[in-house]
Amino acid sequence: MIALMISKRLQTIAQYCPKGSRVADIGSDHALLASYLLVSGIASYVIAGELNEGPYQAARRQIHTLQARDRASVRKGNGLAVLAPGEAEVICIAGMGGQLIVSILTEGKEKLPGVRRLILQPNVGEELVRRWLIDNGWQLTHETILEEDQIIYEILVAEPGDPLVPYRDKDKTTEELIRIGPLLWTEKSPVLRRKWERERDKWLNVLAQVKRSDRPETAQRVKEIEAELAWMNEVIRCLHTDRR
Ligand code: SAM
Repeated sequence: MIALMISKRLQTIAQYCPKGSRVADIGSDHALLASYLLVSGIASYVIAGELNEGPYQAARRQIHTLQARDRASVRKGNGLAVLAPGEAEVICIAGMGGQLIVSILTEGKEKLPGVRRLILQPNVGEELVRRWLIDNGWQLTHETILEEDQIIYEILVAEPGDPLVPYRDKDKTTEELIRIGPLLWTEKSPVLRRKWERERDKWLNVLAQVKRSDRPETAQRVKEIEAELAWMNEVIRCLHTDRR
């Protein structure tokens, strides 16, 4: 077996792919995740989808280096359009904004029946992805937050099911948990705390800038940001005190 070095982020995504599954990696770039899934014996078959010519060619070259290349298909196209219905059991979409992930899933809805698991890693806009999962009958089964090279990533895993199950019996509302992540809230990891401390610091800077402005809407904006900061401080406080 050829060793393939991939990031902790991509390795974590790979760990959520059930062994022996047919996996589509949409927006595969250099097909590193797809290659790892094959080389490490996790996937029985991989489809690497790419929209753009440069990364598509890079993915083709990468897959060509593998002994298991006959169990891989590299396809050029937009989102889930590269898939035939029922072809993939697991779909990974990683390293993009939440808005783009949501539009790929929405535009490719007819390809989702038969998919048993979605593994999604939005770089930003995680709440948009959680909202889409709720609206479309996908239940979050796992959430992970990790830090690599000072960047914090969230990985959301969902399966067809009752989408509200992970939001029940929690000390926060569904709307709040869509922002935080219901399973991340249960786990309360130090990385989650760091994420919200960074977010709070960002908003403290915004507040300082807004206060320097003399526009008529400043007072209202200051109030809104202060309310947001109060909410974040409460989240951070719970993450300090409730940690297992
Ligand atoms: N998934 C890899 C990862 O997580 O490391 C690569 C992430 S890279 C930042 C995003 C990739 O998605 C780019 O190669 C881009 O060309 C591709 N992409 C963007 N929009 C896409 C779409 N609608 N369909 C397929 N690929 C897309």
